[in-house]
Amino acid sequence: MTYHIITIGCQMNISDSERLAAFLEQEGFKSLPNQNKANVVVINTCGVKQGAEDRVYGLVNVIRLRNPKSIIVITGCLSERPDVQRRLKTKVDIWLKTADMATLLDRIRKIDKTKFRVELKDYLKIKPKYNSAFSAFVPIGNGCNNFCSYCVVPYARGRETYRPAKEIMAEVKTLLKKGYKEINLIAQNVNSYRDLKSGLDFADLLKMVNDLPGNFWLRFSTSHPKDMTDKLIKAIGTCQKLCEHIHLPIQSGSDEILKRMNRSYNSNRYRQLIKKIRLQNKYKKIPIAITTDIIVGFPGETKKQFKETVKLFKEISFDLAYISRYSPRYGTLSFKMKDNVSEEEKKKRDQELQLLLRKTALADNLWYQDKIIDVLVDHKDRQGIYLGKSRTFKTIKIMGSESGKDDLKVKKNNSDVKKQNNILGQIVKVKIVRVRDFGLEGLLMA
Ligand code: SF4
Repeated sequence: MTYHIITIGCQMNISDSERLAAFLEQEGFKSLPNQNKANVVVINTCGVKQGAEDRVYGLVNVIRLRNPKSIIVITGCLSERPDVQRRLKTKVDIWLKTADMATLLDRIRKIDKTKFRVELKDYLKIKPKYNSAFSAFVPIGNGCNNFCSYCVVPYARGRETYRPAKEIMAEVKTLLKKGYKEINLIAQNVNSYRDLKSGLDFADLLKMVNDLPGNFWLRFSTSHPKDMTDKLIKAIGTCQKLCEHIHLPIQSGSDEILKRMNRSYNSNRYRQLIKKIRLQNKYKKIPIAITTDIIVGFPGETKKQFKETVKLFKEISFDLAYISRYSPRYGTLSFKMKDNVSEEEKKKRDQELQLLLRKTALADNLWYQDKIIDVLVDHKDRQGIYLGKSRTFKTIKIMGSESGKDDLKVKKNNSDVKKQNNILGQIVKVKIVRVRDFGLEGLLMA
């Protein structure tokens, strides 16, 4: 049997797909790059935005048409949505809740009569097939208890469950032994992590991973401002392997809107958190990058309330923000609210913030001019130019090497960097020579 997995959405989905791929391969499935030829096609879906949902409808139609005999499996956020199930009823074979991943074989068997071994019970115990050989997502839990009024995650993934610290540490140690350079601890809300047996919290876990020997970077996401404790902020300042980047979703600068979003904090609490985080980071050599998520045009958001978001946006000076135009998600609390901000107005608000973001990001990036920083090289573009990320999650384009700086403009076949040994997956020193709003350019140091 062959399989093909299409992953849409966040890091959790990427990580879940890695586990699913490993699980299928343990059972003798072979990965096929072509969705139109595989026996089983899994779409790991995202329901956070309407666009991501629409992509699933398009994909299912195309696969059913071009690969009519395939078993189509829908997992992820949309797998339990009754309206989606109704719409795709005749085209999808299996609706698979993420936590029930291990039951997939049994369900395929019912359709295909193929023999498989006994299934596992807990999907987080499945050893993943990592997509990268140097950067890994390590889930520390799954699900969410927060019920933000616009969000499908608590319905799609269920309540929070967390992995024992012992199990997480074992996975991280194995990765480090294999030479991994970047460990990303992920969950819907990492801050509320708790190991029920030992009582360890997320700050404890961070310190434990940080204290492991080896030259590696540590990251985590996503955080909820309401669970960002002083203990955790202190750990951010003291864990040296932890990268100087925090993704802390604010969603809105208006206290009234935050209340209706059921976010359990107000804008001043957010401001104070950022202040404390920046203060804790001052002993590190590099300014901490702050990134966020924003929703514009939430039901009832007035122009005045939007201006409060603009004000906060300017004050914080975000390095990056994922700005979404509100779209009602079936089954959520806000689905029942009147979606009364017009599409045109949402677009206008989105554009205003995007413009502002370009300015704040550029202002933050000016710090990097002529500095020598560490970069984890993660891919090559079509021209063969290496790209990577700084500890602060900035994208760095390596345009040449310091020793051959006249070759700044990389030619197709003779870049001096291309002549270097493969630097993919390595942490290298790069001197920043050009600063842009969403990217930096630099020269590889010897
Ligand atoms: S914290 Fe809110 S936005 Fe984040 S996953 Fe949970 S419900 Fe969704």
